Amino acid sequence: MCLASWRSGALPVVARREPLTCRRAITYNQKMRVRILGCSGNLVGRHRTTSFLLDDSFLLDAGTVTEAIRRRDLRKIKHVLISHTHMDHVKGLFPLVDELVMMGDYSVELVSVGSVLDIITNNLLNNLIWPDFTVIPSVSNAVIRLREIPLGRPTILDKISVMPVLMTHTVYTVGFVIRQDDGWGFMFTADTGPTRRFWEVAEGEKDIRFIIADVSFPNRLADLATLSGHMTPAMLMENIDAHDLGDRLFYVSHMKPVFASEIIAEFERSGRRNIRFLKQSEILTL
Ligand SMILES: [Zn+2]
Ligand SMILES: [Zn+2]
Repeated sequence: MCLASWRSGALPVVARREPLTCRRAITYNQKMRVRILGCSGNLVGRHRTTSFLLDDSFLLDAGTVTEAIRRRDLRKIKHVLISHTHMDHVKGLFPLVDELVMMGDYSVELVSVGSVLDIITNNLLNNLIWPDFTVIPSVSNAVIRLREIPLGRPTILDKISVMPVLMTHTVYTVGFVIRQDDGWGFMFTADTGPTRRFWEVAEGEKDIRFIIADVSFPNRLADLATLSGHMTPAMLMENIDAHDLGDRLFYVSHMKPVFASEIIAEFERSGRRNIRFLKQSEILTL
């Protein structure tokens, strides 16, 4: 029932079709939902690895897919945006496309910068590690369609704007600025050690609700963090201060489960009120 007609005194008519204008009013300004399918730095126990479902149709990284999304909802996924090719960020892609082929006439667009797509096609979908689903079930009707997007420039995919930013990790990795069509957005570092470009971009980006940042190790393991291309609490806080981002809300992600309580304690000792810890299965809204 349209609110406008209710207020004007019209009685509700159960079988009556809603006017189109009312439907528009209901869907207008919907906030994007960011469902955290996994955000852990390792797959152990109940911990699942990085994957965020934006609304129903857009996956940001694919570390966790079929084990967290109902089978009938898998077919709603239209885009799979990949930050980098480490297994904890891509392994869910393989059972997803296998399942979509079994279901019938469904496909996904695999989206990233060219360097990331090249690694996936040459090393994963190579008929050795996994079948080449870019030609299955047929070349003209493949379940994976590749979509290369440019580094450093926004691309619109079904009303969602994505801009890749080069990060500092052990393989070619991009973080992202993600925005819905009303302009509000969030940023995601993906996996990264201390880096510069992403934080410079963050300084200039307005209307950012939150920044999801990789902090995998506690401060005492700074050398290991640097070697493996991740951050410690001290490294993240140093970047926040260096780029004057203290008024932004941060969600810490990718903590190694064995170090999670130590990392949380280090942030809590800092007394910073703008830092939260991403939780598996929670839903953030823009
Ligand atoms: Zn990685
Ligand atoms: Zn990772």
